[in-house]
Amino acid sequence: MRIALAALLCLAVPVVFVACSSSGGQPTMECKGCAAAKSANGWCDHCNVGYKDGMQVKCKSCHVAATGKGGWCDSCGKGYANGKSTSCKGCATAAATGGTCPT
Ligand SMILES: [Zn+2]
Ligand SMILES: [Zn+2]
Ligand SMILES: [Zn+2]
Repeated sequence: MRIALAALLCLAVPVVFVACSSSGGQPTMECKGCAAAKSANGWCDHCNVGYKDGMQVKCKSCHVAATGKGGWCDSCGKGYANGKSTSCKGCATAAATGGTCPT
């Protein structure tokens, strides 16, 4: 079992090396959706990634919160209020709903 694993690793290393070197020289084609999303703080459905001020936002609910009035993302445990990130859930939801933070 151990020998088989070692053989597998020996085989895998050159393959990884070739894959890296072949893609290194060429410029990566930029996705049209991403290019549009970058300039408009939008979301690219094709790549499942969004942009806010040129920064990548990989979570869609974070992106909606970041580019809108605000909101809280439960899965990331962070939120946004008026375009600024906040760690206070009250502030984030208040910004989204137009209320005030209870804390
Ligand atoms: Zn894209
Ligand atoms: Zn999120
Ligand atoms: Zn707050």
